[in-house]
Amino acid sequence: MGAKADLHMHTICSDGALSPYELVKKTKAQGLAVISITDHDSVAAIPDALEFGKEFGVEVISGVELSASFEDKEVHMLGYFVDYKSQRLLDYLTFFRHERIKRAERIVAKLNSLQVPLRIESVMEHAGTGSVGRPHIAAAMVDEGLTKTYQESFDRFIGNGGPAYERKFQFSPSEAVQLIASSGGLSFLAHPGRYTTDGMLQHLIKAGIDGIEVIHPSHSPEHVAHYRGVASEYYLLESGGSDFHGGKKNDNGTLGSFFVDESKVDTMKRRLFMHRSS
Ligand code: AMP
Ligand code: ZN
Ligand code: FE
Ligand code: FE
Repeated sequence: MGAKADLHMHTICSDGALSPYELVKKTKAQGLAVISITDHDSVAAIPDALEFGKEFGVEVISGVELSASFEDKEVHMLGYFVDYKSQRLLDYLTFFRHERIKRAERIVAKLNSLQVPLRIESVMEHAGTGSVGRPHIAAAMVDEGLTKTYQESFDRFIGNGGPAYERKFQFSPSEAVQLIASSGGLSFLAHPGRYTTDGMLQHLIKAGIDGIEVIHPSHSPEHVAHYRGVASEYYLLESGGSDFHGGKKNDNGTLGSFFVDESKVDTMKRRLFMHRSS
């Protein structure tokens, strides 16, 4: 067993609680050698993370987490080694973040029609400069005394299919794969155990994913074994990580406990080298 690599975590640039500096420092303290920061629809944390990674002696891989939809279900796609300066990528991410704001407004309007007087300003304060998402809405609801807990906000109102749920902008898995590839990165299907049926997985494999996130806090040992088997059968790569968000409200306490061996990252680098030289 080599050094530990955690390839899934969030900062204040999306719905995480820590700044890039605080997060990189914490990963070092947890004994991680390689990390990838994978904010939703943002690569804003990457320049700082690279700099602090050097300072703390943690290898930082640029990353991003995109949302795509397939047959009315949302799937998440992780992009690793993307060129975080690519104008095309940055333009897409700006567009997705703008769509997230419009969606947050639609969710707030639905809540208001359900006699829940949440204000969009309160949600945007929680999001700060990060990509706005349901975690910010859930936290704002608690702060405004509209629900007692973060979880109650999801269970009663904004969870998938809930009365105030709204879908995101529709982007297909193959569009996500192509955007990541054209930005020089590798695409991995995130936490398939959360939602992915085997039929969906077949579609995503055909869409051209490079790998599967096998290790994730939501995965049972059976999931891990299953997705490892699928990866091996289709010559896909494996990744994994903590999906750490930090903070009190949605801290999953997973940092340092969910990781893959550093050799998985070497395999990704070899795959990229072949892509780029072919
Ligand atoms: P969004 O990207 O805005 O759809 O928000 C998705 C995030 O909300 C997920 O990454 C989770 O952190 C959180 N989330 C989604 N559904 C639930 C749920 N039922 N309970 C708690 N948190 C949830
Ligand atoms: Zn998140
Ligand atoms: Fe996700
Ligand atoms: Fe995530």
